[in-house]
Amino acid sequence: GREWHLTERPEGWPDPEKNFALREAPVTEPGEGEVLVKNLYLSVDPYMRGRMSAAKSYAEPYKLNKPMLGAAVGRVLASGAEGFSEGDHVLHFFGWREYATFDARSAVKVDPEAAPLTTYLGVLGMPGLTAYAGLLRVAGFKEGDAVFVSGAAGAVGSEVGQIARLKGASRVVGSAGSDEKVKLLTEEYGFDAAFNYKNGPVKDQLKEAAPDGIDVYFDNVGGEHLEAAISAMNLHGRIAVCGMISQYNATEPTPAPRNLAQIIAKRFRVEGFLVGDHYDLQPQFVEEVSAWVRSGELKYNETKAEGIENTLDAFLGMLRGENTGKMLVALPD
Ligand code: NDP
Repeated sequence: GREWHLTERPEGWPDPEKNFALREAPVTEPGEGEVLVKNLYLSVDPYMRGRMSAAKSYAEPYKLNKPMLGAAVGRVLASGAEGFSEGDHVLHFFGWREYATFDARSAVKVDPEAAPLTTYLGVLGMPGLTAYAGLLRVAGFKEGDAVFVSGAAGAVGSEVGQIARLKGASRVVGSAGSDEKVKLLTEEYGFDAAFNYKNGPVKDQLKEAAPDGIDVYFDNVGGEHLEAAISAMNLHGRIAVCGMISQYNATEPTPAPRNLAQIIAKRFRVEGFLVGDHYDLQPQFVEEVSAWVRSGELKYNETKAEGIENTLDAFLGMLRGENTGKMLVALPD
């Protein structure tokens, strides 16, 4: 089977030619307590950019010349572990490769009858829980709040906006990087207003989209978006900082929001969070959101690349905004 290795740590934008290699590796039979899995869907996620750097962060740096890690869903081909049999589907963390043999304790069984396999990586998976926990717990969303979310056509952002709508937001505003995505937000996902951040200053566009200001900002982007949200923030507002994707490939320190002093008079709260701290909400999240998905009240999109050889392009494409909803790689079965 083939697997992706990081061969050199990227500076700025990753270089497909210099920093990575797709290599052949033997497929090994599972030992006692292990499973051999053929991957069907690989997830590519923004945080993986951080793991390509040597800097210590919440997720360990990828090791050079070893297969990269990431969420994946696959089918068990052979099992030496109790409770797992051939044909079972599992969610696990040995992505970026076609086959993986690993300790079955790091596999979670998933049911393709209950929900499409891809949803365990997206709308009902980690990105979904990020949206749910970030909005409801970290930002302390309450009915009547006006909510602004950036990266709003992505996996996390599209779910944030729709959960806010379904929970009774007074106004839901989103920003995204193309006119097509903006249309999707208002016409399919039920946002009250949306704008393309590439069409003009975020501050001006946000002011027009949320003339009465915002109570919650769910930040996926950082930089100019965060500064604009601070300007639009109402008294006692809350900012949940989920990500700052506009800075992940930066080679220079990025400017802080220049208007942070407004935090005093407006008495708003800014809090960063990691989804890993909120898995206690998983059962509640799955119950509530899967019901909305089944009823069609919450819509989701997925963008799928095909084949292990296109995984790196899918990752880089996601960083450039080529995805609508969750970016995935489908491997031929
Ligand atoms: P998305 O599906 O949202 O894909 C990333 C999107 O980011 C792209 O589609 C692109 O959309 C947008 N983007 C890229 N560069 C910029 C830029 N310079 N300015 C504005 N938008 C940009 O990814 P996810 O839903 O998986 O992740 C969204 C955010 O949530 C990320 O910041 C990620 O790091 C964070 N995250 C944090 C977690 C946590 O535990 N804190 C867990 C999971 C995700 P566009 O076309 O609109 O530019």
